[in-house]
Amino acid sequence: MNTPTFDLSKVIRPHLYKLRPYSTARDDFKGIADVFLDANENPYPSGFNRYPDPHQLKLKEKISSLKKIATENIFIGNGSDEVIDLVIRLCCEPQKDAILTIEPTYGMYEVSAQINGVRTVKIPLTQCFELEAEDIIEAIDHTVKVIFLCTPNNPSGNLLNKEAVRKVISAFYGLVVVDEAYIDFADDAGFLPELSKWPNLIVMQTLSKAYGLAGLRIGLAFAHPEIIRWLNKIKPPYNISQAAQIHAIQHLENQEVIPNQVRMIKSERRILAEKLSRLDMVQKVFPSDANFLMVRFNHSKAVYDYLLKNGIIVRDRSSVLHGNNCLRITVGTSEENQKLINALIQFEYPAA
Ligand SMILES: *Cc1c(COP(=O)(O)O)cnc(C)c1O
Repeated sequence: MNTPTFDLSKVIRPHLYKLRPYSTARDDFKGIADVFLDANENPYPSGFNRYPDPHQLKLKEKISSLKKIATENIFIGNGSDEVIDLVIRLCCEPQKDAILTIEPTYGMYEVSAQINGVRTVKIPLTQCFELEAEDIIEAIDHTVKVIFLCTPNNPSGNLLNKEAVRKVISAFYGLVVVDEAYIDFADDAGFLPELSKWPNLIVMQTLSKAYGLAGLRIGLAFAHPEIIRWLNKIKPPYNISQAAQIHAIQHLENQEVIPNQVRMIKSERRILAEKLSRLDMVQKVFPSDANFLMVRFNHSKAVYDYLLKNGIIVRDRSSVLHGNNCLRITVGTSEENQKLINALIQFEYPAA
């Protein structure tokens, strides 16, 4: 498939063509040396007295072999949140351009757009949180520069229909970010295997969820090398700390642990969904391809407050579109999930 209407040079903000990126001391010198007097660092070792690799090459090589994607297709951000911000800043003129996304979805796309003075066009999903490609395509106008699609979607938990996502990517002249933060919990390979087909696709993943490294702040973007080069040009030079790079590499060496944990979480998800759906207070447990469940209760507010009082924190999603009376519940360990169920069994509705 080709996308005749996509032209990256028309999507990048014009003033960025004049940008001369900051060149770090470590960019200028690429050989091997043992005297480093180029970066004004403290010479006495602390474990972290040197600046980190601005290109995170070792970590990228690890991710490259894990995901079977060349390093030139990989960008690493300080969490996905940095990637979202950089993509918006790369393409959208403040007070003029817009991003387009679905509703309900992850809140950071709109927040990041707002911070950058960029409008957000929101297209509702169906009542069952499904994507209608035609609705998106109809809403595209010349101000929309980036489309964000989250699949599996947060907070609904479902994978978006892949053919509908493809329709959007192929119909759009701008960039499409497919946010796959939860893809490891789905029975689907997502869009990485077809990355090379789409010059305007950015697949975003993260080490924060399945990989268990939320505290390190490592967000991943996979795209055509030309897009990766632009992201590298505008990122803060040392956006991934040395500590984060070292710990991420170490953790990824542990080949067995992550798939095992993902298997356990998926099995717990099935058990938790079953137990929840047997409760009278539960109207509906939405199908989930992620590590959380969107659950509609009879009176979510009362349930939320009750759980909070019992030291169990879930996410109130009752005010999002199609989310009335819904709580979003993360799948925890078997013990944690059982504590939740036990608490819910003992719940009594407050007298009217
Ligand atoms: C949790 C989450 C992320 C991850 O964000 P990080 O900044 O990488 O921790 C990204 N997208 C969605 C939809 C999420 O729910």
